[in-house]
Amino acid sequence: MKKLETKSTVLLKHHLKALKMPTMHEECEKIAARCAKENVDHLGFLLQLCEQELIDRERRAAERRLKAAKFPNYKTLEDFKFEAQPTVNRILVSELMRGEYIEKRESIILIGHPGTGKTHIATALGIAACGQGKKVRFHRVTELITQLMEAREERQLMRMKNQLAKLDLLILDELGYVPASKLGSELLFDVISAAYERTSVIVTTNLPFEQWTEVLGSQRLTGAVLDRLTHHCHILEATGESYRLKDARKRSSKRKNPRSDDKPGN
Ligand code: ADP
Ligand code: MG
Repeated sequence: MKKLETKSTVLLKHHLKALKMPTMHEECEKIAARCAKENVDHLGFLLQLCEQELIDRERRAAERRLKAAKFPNYKTLEDFKFEAQPTVNRILVSELMRGEYIEKRESIILIGHPGTGKTHIATALGIAACGQGKKVRFHRVTELITQLMEAREERQLMRMKNQLAKLDLLILDELGYVPASKLGSELLFDVISAAYERTSVIVTTNLPFEQWTEVLGSQRLTGAVLDRLTHHCHILEATGESYRLKDARKRSSKRKNPRSDDKPGN
């Protein structure tokens, strides 16, 4: 009898592997023993197995989405101190975290000086979207342009564009740090154009709209980019001071005056 059980367990495990049910494969004996102890019937046992498989599958998929998004850092909204950046619209950020803008293919533009938390918020929104089952990819604009130019040279541009087209959310970080070449701007425009009304885009930038021409070159192209990005779009502005700078100042004043609890003048 014991031998037969072993044989059927081996066969069951083989089938579960062939059916690509790794959690059931791992857990079936443990869950069977627990169900036997608790007098759970066959269907109840099957339910528990399926539930466990589904939970693990979703967790693995979320991990894969997070990895594929290639965020530079893991930043969440819980780590973001709104009181340090009071100009950021907290209500709007919280609403955007729910991800409905992605369903509606809307975009987000985060504008502000360096260090005001734009990349932090964009990353937090991206991580939330991954958790909601969305395909996300984070790109620094300069790096994306370099990759697009390389792909073009290697006749892989179509392939790269097809990959970008599969995304639900494309994050373009730091538009405006380095002016793009004419070709670079055109390739970037192509990506933004293709995303229009199909993929949500988050852009972070330190440049007000009037100065986008300095990065993208031609007025015509800038107009076309802005037209697409701002059509269905949420704008978040951070006009405060750099968090890094403030933080550094606070630390240095604490070093100088360790007993003082005073906040540095800001
Ligand atoms: P930006 O992209 O606007 O230049 P970052 O998002 O890179 O700024 O922010 C710089 C650093 O300061 C990051 O480590 C970020 O996590 C942190 N930071 C910025 N603003 C805040 C804030 N309000 N609360 C907590 N951390 C912040
Ligand atoms: Mg940034």
